[in-house]
Amino acid sequence: MNQLFYTIINYLDIVGIVLLMATLIPLKKLMHELPHGSIRKLWQILSGMILFFIATYIVIALQFRAQNDFSSREIICIVLFLGSLFVFLVCTLSLQTARDIKRIYTLEIENITDPLMSISNRRYLDQKLEEEFSKAARYDLAFSILMIDIDHFKNINDTYGHDTGDIVLKKLAILINELIRETDTVARYGGEEIMLLCPLTDGHHAAWLAERLRCEIEKCVMVSSDMEKEGREVLVTVSIGVAEFASDIFCVTDLVKRADEAMYQAKDEGRNRVCVYGSSSIDVQASL
Ligand code: GH3
Ligand code: MG
Ligand code: MG
Repeated sequence: MNQLFYTIINYLDIVGIVLLMATLIPLKKLMHELPHGSIRKLWQILSGMILFFIATYIVIALQFRAQNDFSSREIICIVLFLGSLFVFLVCTLSLQTARDIKRIYTLEIENITDPLMSISNRRYLDQKLEEEFSKAARYDLAFSILMIDIDHFKNINDTYGHDTGDIVLKKLAILINELIRETDTVARYGGEEIMLLCPLTDGHHAAWLAERLRCEIEKCVMVSSDMEKEGREVLVTVSIGVAEFASDIFCVTDLVKRADEAMYQAKDEGRNRVCVYGSSSIDVQASL
């Protein structure tokens, strides 16, 4: 029994070398998982150090065996083995951690993204709306929202089919995203309604942005004739309601109600237009 124990300990340095070699596998995978940047560079330096460590380890182990110095053999074998085990565990756990972080990040993004339009979903919108509203109310900042609704979208679905309707929604989201500021938030409010949050933007500037969006959307070919089954171009228009934060608004719901009311006013007045809550669409056009 004792003999077997000492035999095992005497070969621990060899096991250590194998373990260090095996470390190269999680290390290589880890390099693939990490995004380009400073962390990846640091890990590349660490990988170089590990390779150097493996090389010196092998040299020491072989030299030590050649000397046949049995006096401290067990201690050296154990120390070398534990060193290798440590490096192996650090690399394996780092790989696992990198994968977990990536998975959590993907899940978090999916949790707040609309799968069809690839913009923020209602869950995120509600949070962001509360956040921006509180900031505006607390620090007396300008804050406006836009409610965008596609005109006669049911007709698009009925005429060209739901698939084409879906393409229109995707394209519209891309177009709006291209036209807004990075600090604005665009989200699917529901169905074919999109909401835009514009922090630090007063009603006048929000109306100007809304009018610009409306014009660009009107001009844009949402589905080109070669993509449409019957070879027709699909164009759409939108009605936009604008509401600005004011001191007589005490909750988010009231602000949204105002944007909604303005949007329905735009519908009532003939669609393909912008209405600001509290002013007629004619005022809006004139003030731009
Ligand atoms: P209006 O000008 O009054 O807004 O007319 P509308 O036809 O757009 O009216 P409404 O808002 O009642 O209709 C919205 C339509 O949007 C109904 C629904 O079938 C369609 N829709 C909602 N979500 C989706 C979707 O994800 N994909 C497609 N293709 N259609 C959708
Ligand atoms: Mg509509
Ligand atoms: Mg609608």
